[in-house]
Amino acid sequence: MTRDRDKLTLNLLGVLAIASLVVILGEAPLVAIHADNIWLWVTYALMLFSAWVFPVRLGDQSVTITLGIEVPMFLQFGPLITVITIIVIWLLSQWLTGRTIQPRRLTSNLSMFTIMVATAYLGYRLSGGADAPISWSSPIAPLVGPVIAYMVLHFVSNYAITLWLAWTDESRRVDNWTLGVLWDLVALLGEILIAALLIVLQHNYGAIALFLTAVPFAGLIYMFRLYSHLLIANRQLSTISEISMKLNEVLHEDDLCQLLLDGALRLVSADSAYVFVQDDLDLVIPLAYAPHTHDMEMRVRMWRADGVQGMVERVWKSGEPVLQKVKPTRTGTSVGDGVMDAWPSIMAVPLRYGEQTLAVLVLAHQERKAFDRRNQETLQILASQAAIGLHNARKFAESTEQSLIDPLTGLYNYRYFEAALDKACRKADHTQTPLTLLVLDIDHFKGINDSYGHLAGNEVLKSFASLVKEQLRDVDTVCRYGGEEFTVLLPGAGPDVGMQIAERLRQTVAGHSVHLPSVGKTTPLPIRVTVSVGAASYPAMGDTPQDLLRNADRAMYIGSKQRGRNRAALYEQVRG
Ligand code: GH3
Ligand code: MG
Ligand code: MG
Repeated sequence: MTRDRDKLTLNLLGVLAIASLVVILGEAPLVAIHADNIWLWVTYALMLFSAWVFPVRLGDQSVTITLGIEVPMFLQFGPLITVITIIVIWLLSQWLTGRTIQPRRLTSNLSMFTIMVATAYLGYRLSGGADAPISWSSPIAPLVGPVIAYMVLHFVSNYAITLWLAWTDESRRVDNWTLGVLWDLVALLGEILIAALLIVLQHNYGAIALFLTAVPFAGLIYMFRLYSHLLIANRQLSTISEISMKLNEVLHEDDLCQLLLDGALRLVSADSAYVFVQDDLDLVIPLAYAPHTHDMEMRVRMWRADGVQGMVERVWKSGEPVLQKVKPTRTGTSVGDGVMDAWPSIMAVPLRYGEQTLAVLVLAHQERKAFDRRNQETLQILASQAAIGLHNARKFAESTEQSLIDPLTGLYNYRYFEAALDKACRKADHTQTPLTLLVLDIDHFKGINDSYGHLAGNEVLKSFASLVKEQLRDVDTVCRYGGEEFTVLLPGAGPDVGMQIAERLRQTVAGHSVHLPSVGKTTPLPIRVTVSVGAASYPAMGDTPQDLLRNADRAMYIGSKQRGRNRAALYEQVRG
């Protein structure tokens, strides 16, 4: 759908451009370049060239003052030579700055230049402008109206086509376009002044004055560039500090990475961005990415499965940033040695904390040489801030995890259990699957402490915990509820399966003995314990988490402890 629309737009643009050429050729007399005016033409061409190669960047927006140069050139050489010059100089500037020109961009830009000059020319003619070359000896006041008509129509047709293209091609983002218009209007005013200056100079002092102004003109542009760089640097600093503050506020790794990506894309213009981290198997995988498109999802899914080996891994190991220094593949530079991920420009910076790489931030662009050193430095500042945040987020995750784990046995504690029981009940409701809860209490444990000492008791608890854990699946949860009481959540298990597992646990514990380490020459006797197990299934034997726990405990007490211990009992059997 969008593809068709896109193609149609390009074809229409092409047709309009050809019609524009016909208008120009039919209406305007051909003005030749000859020995008398060639230097004038060269001056204009050079001015155009420098305006294009050194645009003044204001944030994402680059402002050029080409129109101010185009107008006096147009007055001297007419629309045809103007169009041809613009096209040649534009191609030259693109080539010299090493930018790839995709066929689509070539067609749309060349058509755009032609249509803009033709529209502007028509406006100029309709408001009474004389044909080129205008006579410099006559007064220039009558030029004011037509020249302004030329510039305004040029500006308007430029915007019309840009918006039209943005509408048909989703990859041309026009966020912030009101800001863009604002800057362009400011630039238009500047261009009107420049055009006026060049015309007056030419009128009063002749062509030589233009040569003489070209030098201070270039100096002025250069100073303005320096000034705008200063402005941008300032703005970037305040953006970085704003993002850093937010980075310090988030506690979770995922949120932090998303913030980092948003921040990176605000600071450096790119098509996509990723944060890579290391998973449990030490594979380097993407944790977060932007934008969330279908293509990106596919690419990220592939990387998540296999990990990436390419450039990201090298950045990870070396801890050094990379600015597309990798030898480009046939189609571009590769993030992870894949075919799908070949980009003409890639930049990767590590998130380092001390000597450790915590993550790698990667930006990719569809154009060649899209990133420079300054971009990299900016990104590195942000990455360093994010690294501190990431370190804190991980510490936080660790400490929350720690507070839920029992240090003696390494099992979850009752705090974790209460939340897990709640969640398991809700999940059982939602998926309509059974759930059984076991309560385990070691028999006569006090006696163990009394006979062998508290430390030996601890060893028994540890051994008991790992024994029980070994017997269960990954989806089951074992917790140390208190002293020598344990709970087991068995999602998916009904009363029958639950009782089978309870019985198996009881037998395993009864058949196992704990060997304590020797002290001097004496080797302590192996210690044997038994366990009482109570079971209750949700929701038939307790339809709230609290009831379920109480009933499993009752089953354990009435069904096993009261009947001599070392038994497994289901709540159903003891109810009465
Ligand atoms: P019953 O068969 O009735 O369950 O008898 P019991 O002795 O196991 O029951 P009781 O609840 O009276 O005693 C539990 C004992 O567990 C008391 C306590 O000192 C001991 N205990 C609790 N936590 C720990 C621990 O972390 N380490 C050690 N060594 N002992 C503990
Ligand atoms: Mg007890
Ligand atoms: Mg006990």
